[in-house]
Amino acid sequence: MQNKTNKKQSKTFTNKKINSLPKLPKSMMRNNRRQRLPAVKPNDIIPVLQKDTVRAVFLGGVEEVGRNMTAVEFNDDIFVIDSGFMFEDEDKPGVDYILPNTEYLEDRKEKVKAMIVTHAHLDHIGAIPFILERIGNPPIYANELTAIMIKKRHSEFPHLPNPDIRIVHGGETVQIGSLPVTFFDTTHTIPDSMGIIIKTPFGGVTVTGDIKLDHKDGQVMDEEKEHFNVFKKEKILLLMMDSTNAWKPGWSIPEWKVFETFDKILEETPGRLIIGTFASHLERVIHIIEKAEELGKKVIIEGRSMKNNLAIAQELGYLKVKKNTLITAEHAEEYPDNRLLILSTGAQGEEFAALTRIANKTHKYLKLKPTDTIALSSSVIPGNEIAVQRLRDMLARQCRHIITYQTSDVHASGHGNAEEGKWIISQIKPKFFVPHHGFYFMLQANADNAESVGVKPENIRIPDNGTIVEIRNKGTEIIKLEEKAPHKLRIVEGLNVKDIQEIVINDRKALAQDGMFVIVTTVNMRTGRLRKSPDIISRGFIYLRESRELLDQTRLIAKRIVERAFSRSRNVDIDKLKAELTREISKFLLQQTHKSPIVIPVIVGV
Ligand SMILES: [Zn+2]
Repeated sequence: MQNKTNKKQSKTFTNKKINSLPKLPKSMMRNNRRQRLPAVKPNDIIPVLQKDTVRAVFLGGVEEVGRNMTAVEFNDDIFVIDSGFMFEDEDKPGVDYILPNTEYLEDRKEKVKAMIVTHAHLDHIGAIPFILERIGNPPIYANELTAIMIKKRHSEFPHLPNPDIRIVHGGETVQIGSLPVTFFDTTHTIPDSMGIIIKTPFGGVTVTGDIKLDHKDGQVMDEEKEHFNVFKKEKILLLMMDSTNAWKPGWSIPEWKVFETFDKILEETPGRLIIGTFASHLERVIHIIEKAEELGKKVIIEGRSMKNNLAIAQELGYLKVKKNTLITAEHAEEYPDNRLLILSTGAQGEEFAALTRIANKTHKYLKLKPTDTIALSSSVIPGNEIAVQRLRDMLARQCRHIITYQTSDVHASGHGNAEEGKWIISQIKPKFFVPHHGFYFMLQANADNAESVGVKPENIRIPDNGTIVEIRNKGTEIIKLEEKAPHKLRIVEGLNVKDIQEIVINDRKALAQDGMFVIVTTVNMRTGRLRKSPDIISRGFIYLRESRELLDQTRLIAKRIVERAFSRSRNVDIDKLKAELTREISKFLLQQTHKSPIVIPVIVGV
């Protein structure tokens, strides 16, 4: 969807720009267009923030799952909350990551007082190395584990200055800029997750971060209730909340249930146990390792992200194991099968992940045995269905015991379902509600949840990327501005951060789909005739040897167009001629083959 929107924008670019300019007489605009428009940046049209207005700007993480970033602005301060990226998607070949667009913040750098990070997942911290400098290197406020993860990622970019990280904990209040900010603990899948309350004179602005609840059959646990005690004495003006699973009815599977399931599996598995899961589900991974140790098992960790995360967890004392519990894969054969647990990344069938290498027999040390038990502790992320199916097939050819989330509680999401959302909203009791983190329909579901527990519908707004919401008149009125913050996709390709160029992405897609077609014409500049029949080079389009007739006809079309142009004058406008060749040959090839390769005409004059 995102891509389509932008595509439309780039095609109708001039109209869009003109709409957002200060009003000029139409005739003047047309003139200006020809002589190039004065440089009006999208930022320039955003109204100046009025005194005592609370502004929230959604810079990423709505209309999508990933690249979360929301800014809260009040008088002279901007607080940036989270800075995630999104991995490349199939729709944008060649793109490594997609970042939030931070132009709004870059133009207001001097106001950015802090980046506050809710937890250490990449869709909340991944963009930090790419954007921190651009927004003026503000200090980062984060809990312990999050802080170390941020530092670790930053160290992979040695040209960057060390980030100024200030460690904060749930229950603590610190002064940032002119406002006090309170943090509260939350339940997610990684330790040290927290929510934020920025205290304006009109009430708190709260962000939950990714959140679910610890509960037993829908009864919220006491320890969980304590996290929300802070709201008993806080008046909350605005709540911005994770919406990922808000559309799912009821309560999510609590993580303790997954722990229990694994305890049982660990106790009962007769041979080796191989668990494929996400490195990001760190609490689960820690639990499984500690339980394995208790049962006298040795644990092999496979996958770089899993190893990294666990090293950090060990450093902070979140993972407590004896020195010889963790062993490396090359020593696997030294232990009896029933004393071995292999924990691996790659349950999504990722091409080079450890579990895939074990499954396709390319792992140096680990080979599957028919007596192995494999537990895939993850759901299937949309888009990965085929890869996961392939992985399961490869595994099933080699061993009989495969446990998945469909057959057993070996996985739970880190995001709460509708009933959890409603419980959370009723604890926080916000006056205004803006759902974020999720596709539009997820946000809509979260808005419905809020309404069902008493938030007035007129006090709810659903944002898109770039949306600016303001709370005006001493916290009494919510407005969604018509003007948007810049929200064109920012991408990382290799080492470069740049705005997405739809034309490049579209070319890549066309190349992947229909290939390319180069036609080279050599013109005798004296006679204006072709020296020889045009040469054709083509890749990924059709099998040339079996398409003689089509190629001959194409050559004739090219010859006719070029010779006609040169017969009129020797001073041919080459660009125009190339455009005509592209147009006519594309049309012809489409008619004949129903394919649209990228046509590249080359004209050589001799
Ligand atoms: Zn998360």
